[in-house]
Amino acid sequence: MTLQYINNELTMHGHRLSDIAKKYGTPLFVYDETMIREQCRRFHTALKASGLRYTISYASKAFSSIQLFNLMAEEQMGLDVVSEGELFTALQSKVPENQIHFHGNNKTNREIQYAMESGVEYFVIDSLDEIERLNTLAERPVKAVLRINPGVEAHTHEFIQTGQENSKFGLSVKKGLALEGIKKIQAAEHLEFIGVHFHIGSQIFESTGTIATVDLVIDWLSENHIEIDVLNIGGGFSIKYTEEDISYPIEEGIKSITDALKNACHRNNFTLPEISLEPGRSIVGEAGITLYEVGTVKNIPDVNYYVSIDGGMSDHIRTALYDAQYDLKLVNREEPHDKMMTIAGKLCESGDIIRRDIKLPTSIHTGDYLAVLSTGAYHYSMSSNYNQMLKPAVIFVTEDSIKQVVRRQTLDQLIQNDVLA
Ligand SMILES: *Cc1c(COP(=O)(O)O)cnc(C)c1O
Repeated sequence: MTLQYINNELTMHGHRLSDIAKKYGTPLFVYDETMIREQCRRFHTALKASGLRYTISYASKAFSSIQLFNLMAEEQMGLDVVSEGELFTALQSKVPENQIHFHGNNKTNREIQYAMESGVEYFVIDSLDEIERLNTLAERPVKAVLRINPGVEAHTHEFIQTGQENSKFGLSVKKGLALEGIKKIQAAEHLEFIGVHFHIGSQIFESTGTIATVDLVIDWLSENHIEIDVLNIGGGFSIKYTEEDISYPIEEGIKSITDALKNACHRNNFTLPEISLEPGRSIVGEAGITLYEVGTVKNIPDVNYYVSIDGGMSDHIRTALYDAQYDLKLVNREEPHDKMMTIAGKLCESGDIIRRDIKLPTSIHTGDYLAVLSTGAYHYSMSSNYNQMLKPAVIFVTEDSIKQVVRRQTLDQLIQNDVLA
């Protein structure tokens, strides 16, 4: 991340963030566009080095916008979508429809029809009854990948290999549902079975869980004489939210996973499939920050010191939702982080907190700007109009450009669907 203090002001690619905040208003999402491209290129380079056939599709739920999708097209990234809204947005972009994959554990008939008409590359089927619905709705051959539940769940360096059958996603390998699904797809008149998909967790910072799953899946397919053209291993690669976190080591990690795939295929005399990845967070997460303006400061002696900002859970839900941790920086000057405080949002919930118990400069006062780091994934896309808050604008920054890619919502947009009388 190209954030640094220059002349006592926090800058991105040398541009003063306080100037950007003044020009576009706050709350504001600001992305380092160069870093987004770099992350895409790191995945490409790592996969190219493996010599395998591969595709990468960006998981659009992390942050969807037309200009971001256009950037993805420029970086040879496909897209994953899970709803008609995500598909609609994707279709307005330069990403070719035959590089869009349709996911989801409960696709509506309307969504299936829309995706078929749009010419998406393939559907990732998530249940037995979806197979029948897809087959019935298909008017021409449709490619299908089956999402399986391998019974492995990885969240951190620990991965758990049993007891994860209870999931709304995928079909269980151990309970025989995955095999039943494959047979059903193969027998379906309009469906072409091309491969399997798994996604075993998110914010995974090392590769042992994925490697164990690759081994398990290739052994299982081989035992059952199922051939695949595509092995989709999902996303979930970790990012650094705070100093305690580890960013997934893309180069070594992808090498260890692709090596494991080659070994598993060799061991089983199994034809090497194309490998597909679906990173979301790791593409946009660290590249984005949120800028807020400080409002009130409230000292409760011996209890807490609250600094409130002009946004909150409407644009930053992950602290309330998962107790997620974030680092912050004072934007308009650099000072030692010497005072323990809680940064609170302005919405009507006690849980509307950006960060509890963080050391920041004592001098923080009304009118200062704060930057919350690593908010590029699952912030704008999870934003809401709670308390009739307006969704913020989004800005992309490079060394020589500052451009708005999403405008701030307007008050009129808040009531445009209200039926009067
Ligand atoms: C959420 C999701 C991803 C992306 O996860 P990240 O943690 O953002 O990389 C990829 N594939 C599937 C199926 C998902 O549900």
